Order: sequence, then structure tokens, then C-alpha cells
Amino acid sequence: MTDRSRSPRIESPASIGSVFDLIRRGTARTRREISRQTALAPSTVSLRVDSLIAAGLVEEAASGQATGGRQPRFLRVRGDAGAVVSVALGTHHFRLAVADLVGRVLHVTECPIDVALGPAAAMREIWERTLIALGDARVDAGAVRGMALGVPAPIDSRLGTVTSSAQLPGWGQQNLYDLIKRHTELPVSIQNDANLLALAEFRAAGPDVGHMLAVKVGSRIGSGVVVGGRLYSGSSGAAGEISHSRSSGRSAIHCWCGTPDCLESVAGGAALVARLRQEGYDIGGTADLVALAGAGDARAVELLREAGGLVGEVLSYVVNFLNPDLVTFGGQLSGVPPFVAAIRAAVFQQCLPVVTDALEVRVGTVGTDAEILGGIQLILDRTLDVNRVDKLVANGWTG
Ligand SMILES: [Zn+2]
Repeated sequence: MTDRSRSPRIESPASIGSVFDLIRRGTARTRREISRQTALAPSTVSLRVDSLIAAGLVEEAASGQATGGRQPRFLRVRGDAGAVVSVALGTHHFRLAVADLVGRVLHVTECPIDVALGPAAAMREIWERTLIALGDARVDAGAVRGMALGVPAPIDSRLGTVTSSAQLPGWGQQNLYDLIKRHTELPVSIQNDANLLALAEFRAAGPDVGHMLAVKVGSRIGSGVVVGGRLYSGSSGAAGEISHSRSSGRSAIHCWCGTPDCLESVAGGAALVARLRQEGYDIGGTADLVALAGAGDARAVELLREAGGLVGEVLSYVVNFLNPDLVTFGGQLSGVPPFVAAIRAAVFQQCLPVVTDALEVRVGTVGTDAEILGGIQLILDRTLDVNRVDKLVANGWTG
């Protein structure tokens, strides 16, 4: 199951950015290891490394363990060389993290937001809170290298627009890049929240996983796809939108997508809440549904089991097609064991044995901050991309 695509691709001859990438990924920790992996002459490696040190991106420290009278000196990325901001937008609040350049979280905060006021107001609020969070984290705004924004809706990545979404009324077709640019010139990466979940879970999954699906099951259903070690977002950024595929259940709510009995309108948290309300339950949202199931309410558990089977049914088509190593679940409903068990059972029943033989299907391990952690990874990968590092060593951060 080892996937070679996780190994960094080294151009020949390795540029400064490629050498930095080896250090950043922990693939090479000393000058000698870089020389061995790139086939660069030791003198060239030294020039590259010295440039990275001079640019403030890398530092070299003694290991503390002397071998043969000489202490090996290890290279590592300097966390204090900059900072990034990652925001995960929800329907009633957003979480915001400030991290350093090695992805260490320096500060996390949660802020209420009224998404019904529209995306322009939301982007202003996010930026104002970002400035406050940077102050709390004691990070100079000038040290911030980029920002990631996770949005609970399908995003057309070419245009930076939200496709119609029940969670974000009035946000359809508005360009979020343009709206955030009113406040900052920072590079901003915007992604669907399930894609950020996938990035975080993929990183946590370890080197044996090359292909995976991360499914977010909450009020809505979405998934992020990693293929060959990379996030696969498709032609327009909508890859993984399994929620608007037709299911064999019956809709409990109207869905904007227009597909009759789409999975989200049948088995998403909002649909199950609507069904329970129709049956006389006085519940507010998906969190109440999770609490009801946790308290052992037989009808809530029954509905969640049925819904899990329907999610598993749609997922099995995707799993048969994609043949991943791993499927993980995140979001509020992933905390309901009968729901997850029903999805697993359906996937293992309905997929080919050759697909399920080595397949792992489980709840994600990263926890509730998976999306902001995925966002940190996304923006760091962009900021510290091989070509960008080549340019910034030559021209500085503004180059
Ligand atoms: Zn739909």
C-alpha cells in the first residue's frame, strides 16, 4: 500500500526550493542526506543551505549527540520565519487559528457569525477577528504569509464562488476572493470544508495511505478526496460532492440541487431533524439529534441507522470506483456509533472484495479542529511551494 507519490519529486539539478522541501518534509535532515538524495555535490548543497539560512527559512543546530568526535548538525525549518491564518467557517460561528511556519498552532479562537448577512459582511468580520487574533498571538500582521478559508459549501475553485447552498443563503455565485481582497492583499486559499478535513486526516493517516476519502457528516454531507497523496478537487473544485447523488431513501427536506431524494435531503443531519420534528419531537438542530441518540432515544437511533445505510449505499459506488486505502468520518454525526456502524456495514456489503480487502473505514483521528489544521497545511503547502521558495530566496517575501 506504500504510495511512492508521497516522496517529493526532485528536479535535476535540485533547486533551493527542492532542498528546502526535503528539509520541510523531514526527508533529509543533514547536508549529507541532502547530497545523497539529490546527487548534488556537497559544495552545491552547502551553497543552497546557506542561502536558506540567510533567507531566515532554515536553521542548523547540533543534535547534542556526538558521534566519532563530531556532532552532526541538523537542519530544520524556522517556525518563526512567518505565520499563517486558517479559518473554518460554520453556519453560526467560525474557528480561527494562527500558526507558525512549521504548522505549530499559536492561537485558536471561536467567534459567532451571522452568515445570513451575506459574504461581504462575513469576510469583513473574519478579517477584523484575524487582526485581533494576531494581536492575541503576538504575531505581527506583516509576518503573515497567507490565509486559508474553509467554507461549508461546494466551492468553484476557478472562480472562488460558492455554489448554491442551504447552509449559506444568499452566498451563491459571489466571489469570495474579491470580497476578502477588500481587506487584505495576502494570498488566500479557499476550499470546501470537507477537503480541509481530508487534508488533515490524510496527514494523520501515515505513510501507508496514498488514496483516501474523508466524509463530513453533519447537517450536510460532503467528502474530500485524496488521490496519490494529493487533494483531488476536480475540474471546478467540486470533487467529492457525494451528497447530491440520488439515494434510495425519501427526501425529508427540499434541497437546492433539484435531484429528487438526493442523499443530503434524505440522510443529512438537517433532514433527520426535520423528520423527527414531523413526528412531534421538539428539537432544534443536528446537535440535539446527536444528544437524543446519545441518550438512547430508540426512534432517533433507528433513523440514524437507516440514514447510515443510505450514506453507505452512495459511498459504496465511490469506494468501488476509487479503491481507496482509507475512508474516515468527521462532523457531528461521526460521534454517533450506530450511524457510523451502519455506513461501514453498507460499504463492506456493497463493495467488491478486491476493494474492501485492505480497506479501512473509521472515524477520523484528528478531532474537531481537523478543518483548521487542514487549512494550515493547505496554505503552508502553497506558501512554501518549491517554486515560491526559489523566488522568495531570490527576492524576499514580497517577490
Ligand atoms: Zn441535494
